[in-house]
Amino acid sequence: MKINNELCNKCGRCVMECCHLAIIPDDNGGFFIDQQLCNNCEDLFDIECIRVCKKYAIIDNEGKVPEIDRTLRLRSEHLPWLIAVMGSRDNGDFPLGLREWEPFRKIISDAYLNPEKKVRFTKCFDDNCIGCPAKVAPGHAAYLEKLDDLCFKQLGIEPGTVMGIWDAIRLGAKKFPRSFFKEIDIIKESIVNDFFRCLPPDEYGSYDSDDKNNELLFGGLTACENVVPEEENMTIEINGCRVSVSANVDLELLARVCQALK
Ligand code: SF4
Ligand code: SF4
Repeated sequence: MKINNELCNKCGRCVMECCHLAIIPDDNGGFFIDQQLCNNCEDLFDIECIRVCKKYAIIDNEGKVPEIDRTLRLRSEHLPWLIAVMGSRDNGDFPLGLREWEPFRKIISDAYLNPEKKVRFTKCFDDNCIGCPAKVAPGHAAYLEKLDDLCFKQLGIEPGTVMGIWDAIRLGAKKFPRSFFKEIDIIKESIVNDFFRCLPPDEYGSYDSDDKNNELLFGGLTACENVVPEEENMTIEINGCRVSVSANVDLELLARVCQALK
């Protein structure tokens, strides 16, 4: 891979993303890719630097931007965490403002406001991992890959599967029993309880936009303060919190969400 300096705006996202530390500052305030260190992400499920570059400035050796699926990515092992963040409400298990949990809140916010949003299941790494310092730790990718494999098996889907965010949440709710959490090193009881608290008591994770009292629809919004979803086309306020949403947001749904939170 190479950087096209005519398009690069020197944002540094790719530098944070490359777990092989192959993207290096040059003398002009920009970056270059060290060909000795870059292995084209052959050991990972996706090519990491390309998916985070919003300027399409990373090119292959033939000078082309490789075509990749840019659907929001979710590691299979991040699905139980996502559901647990939803269920935690504001109980402090996932403190607001921590880099680790804000990407999850971003997805949750998007899910409420854009119910048709899709996710693409991936192995390490995903869009929640952008900028995570743990990515470059030796052996970390291999450890996560094992967890992802366990979750893919449990979910009964293959890496690369694309589905609606609410279908993904419903699937996770059905397929992850309490006994499974130890296998993926989620051992804190309160986190496991957060996972199950997300779900309505009588059914697993149904999403019904016509049901004003739907626990799954409204409950987790308290976890979404100060969240900016992926597509930043307009800004609204929900319960005193500024939230950016895409222009194609379901305005009727949004109005009801705001009303429910008053
Ligand atoms: S992510 Fe793209 S625009 Fe940002 S520094 Fe890297 S190549 Fe440049
Ligand atoms: S292709 Fe992978 S290894 Fe190479 S620079 Fe990009 S993120 Fe780093």
